[in-house]
Amino acid sequence: MAKVNSNYGKLADSYLFAEIAKRAATFTRDNPNATIYKLGIGDTTEAITPHVLEGLRRGVEKLGDVRTYSGYGNEQGNKALREAIAVFYTQRGVCLDSSEIFVSDGAKTDSANIQSIFSQDSVVAVQDPAYPVYVDSNVASGRTGEFNKERGQYDDLVYMPCNSENDFVPQIPSNLSGRKFPDLIYLCSPNNPTGAVMSRKSLEEFVGAARENKSIIIFDAAYSWYINDQNLPQSIYEIAGAKECAIEINSFSKIAGFTGVRLGWAVVPKQAVTEDSEAGTLNRMWNRRQTTFFNGASNIAQDGGLEAFSPKGKEECSGLVNYYMNNAKMIRQGLELLNIKVFGGDNAPYLWMQNPNGIGSWEFFDKMLR
Ligand SMILES: *Cc1c(COP(=O)(O)O)cnc(C)c1O
Repeated sequence: MAKVNSNYGKLADSYLFAEIAKRAATFTRDNPNATIYKLGIGDTTEAITPHVLEGLRRGVEKLGDVRTYSGYGNEQGNKALREAIAVFYTQRGVCLDSSEIFVSDGAKTDSANIQSIFSQDSVVAVQDPAYPVYVDSNVASGRTGEFNKERGQYDDLVYMPCNSENDFVPQIPSNLSGRKFPDLIYLCSPNNPTGAVMSRKSLEEFVGAARENKSIIIFDAAYSWYINDQNLPQSIYEIAGAKECAIEINSFSKIAGFTGVRLGWAVVPKQAVTEDSEAGTLNRMWNRRQTTFFNGASNIAQDGGLEAFSPKGKEECSGLVNYYMNNAKMIRQGLELLNIKVFGGDNAPYLWMQNPNGIGSWEFFDKMLR
């Protein structure tokens, strides 16, 4: 008799984006002529830029000619693209080998799958609030325990509260009530959804604690290009010792408008180690995981991604980033004019605002919608 993975039952209705979509769809059904400006989910809206589009087009054309056609590619990703990604890191003084870079179909996939190479009994820490996939992927794989409706939290997850008192920057978990220090720590900076960016000092503290406890940090840098302040780290590997304890995930989605094209990458350094593994093991395991469950990113998407990292492509992509940052600035200014307290929006496209008059989040959402 087949049985379902009962962990899925614990996911319940907590999927934020699905709830947003449901409320918006209900509203549209009742108000078919209304235009909705959707601010609830990080999606891109602007056209892919000419040079990057040329790369995608070239990718398509190559497939239509037997002399340039290619089928399955290198499972870890096109070597030229991995090398271009490595060069991208050298601009921040980070030296990576292309064998430490794994091209994927996006950062969400990698964020969801990375937990699978770690022990089932890993204690997991997440920022609160956080991009939902870090939590949900660990719920589905059975690491979180039950959802406590009263607290709105899973029993066995360690939450790192991010609020106005700590400027939405997570602190090293300390109040562990008998539990061991987290084995896996998910960090996202610049942060979705709060717009907060971690300073060098706070990242150094996390890297120090992770090395001390032989923990692994999973660092989601999907918005690294949105950092204006050059003193803020754009990659966790700018912190000394991070290669021993951190996996970094990034994406072309928010850089080049590839949310629908699908392209991202993960860095699993050879130096990264766990309590029970030596240098190279995690890198080999992720390679094994990807070659077993994934056959590589689309060759068309990779041709586009390669152009995004060319000098011309980078210039175009910076233009896209500026466009979104300008939107954030306008919204921020508008909210401030209304005397609403706002965070973020300076080194991230996200704004995090305090609801006026203490009204609840969903209540405010419905008010905005209506
Ligand atoms: C958009 C986003 C992603 C997803 O990126 P894809 O490459 O499109 O899967 C990952 N992490 C964060 C924080 C995001 O906002």
